[in-house]
Amino acid sequence: MKEKRKLGLRRGLSLLPANAGTYRIGRGEKSVILTTPFARTATLAIAKGQDPFAQVPASHHWLIEELITSLAAADLLTQGRREIALPPRYLNEIVERDIAAQQLRNRCEPELLQCEWSDAARAFGHDEGAEILAARTTVRVMISGRNRVATLLHSLLLASGVSLVEFIDRFDRAAISDCDIGTSTITAKEYAENFYTYLQSQRRSVSLFPLERRPAKQRDSGKDKYATLVIHSGPLDIEDLIDWLTARQPHFVIQSAIADEITMGPLVIPGITPCLRCADLTQVDRLGYSSADRISLTDTPEIAMVGAHFVASVAAAQILHFIDSARAGQSFADITADSASSADSVASADSVASAITRSTTVNLQNLLAAKSHSITVHPLCGCGSFREYPKKN
Ligand SMILES: [Zn+2]
Repeated sequence: MKEKRKLGLRRGLSLLPANAGTYRIGRGEKSVILTTPFARTATLAIAKGQDPFAQVPASHHWLIEELITSLAAADLLTQGRREIALPPRYLNEIVERDIAAQQLRNRCEPELLQCEWSDAARAFGHDEGAEILAARTTVRVMISGRNRVATLLHSLLLASGVSLVEFIDRFDRAAISDCDIGTSTITAKEYAENFYTYLQSQRRSVSLFPLERRPAKQRDSGKDKYATLVIHSGPLDIEDLIDWLTARQPHFVIQSAIADEITMGPLVIPGITPCLRCADLTQVDRLGYSSADRISLTDTPEIAMVGAHFVASVAAAQILHFIDSARAGQSFADITADSASSADSVASADSVASAITRSTTVNLQNLLAAKSHSITVHPLCGCGSFREYPKKN
């Protein structure tokens, strides 16, 4: 008697007709060629969540066993059909309202597809996306800066399931101005309204997983000052940077544009990855100057709308990668804490660090030619003094 296995195919796959009546299934370099009608029938059954052996005579079951082995080797299988694993508070909220639950499922599907194929899903052992997506709700992100890119990042992250996104400075240019119109949900009707109040009012309709605001008591606690990640867009105050480094606050900075060129990152996890000064020194070695060290000759205007969306999307993709990789009990507070010293944590910190230490330069005239530069710890940078982790022994 064969053991009943729950099998499913990863989201979004297709059968691609190939030479000599065969079919190819997969993506990129990882694919499987289906050479027999039995293999095709079994694959269709797995895709529907049915038993792949059901339609195949027992004499050919070995073929299906082989098929399952090669599909698994190509990373195309999951453990059966998956439900969205949301924290109980959402389920309580939606259980009586089926329409809302269905809408949530529909909106989650594209995010789940991407999560399911992500590095994070592989790293955490075929998580199938649902837990990665649900974990985004628990991550606190603060946005500093007041421009189109910051506004777009706010709505992109909310709509991607990162529910606890907030602006740090609620007073900087508080009125909605001309250049805000057309960004996120802001239209001409909102002109001169309070920017922060307006975005807060839109929060529930934009968020994938809307969360009630936390009680004021909780917000004012000392812990509130730091988050899983701070994102800054625009001119940077060096004191903020020093604060983040000394507090080991992970941060991601999108510089102001120089003419039509804009540089962002690397995402810095103090004590684990190279810092922004490492990036500056690397740029000086490479080009003879640093784009962060500048004397502005004109007011820095907003960047054009298409460029702003592109920059916000590239930044959001890196930020989500960081958030998703920080899951499974490996929040960066844990990774940087001195108490976390198991071999597993070290490996996880290293793998995350190596994946995200890159800066990106985008030329707004040629978005397809965005350049990515790897950053390593610079020997002249003092950030090594914050580097107490990972410890050997
Ligand atoms: Zn450094």
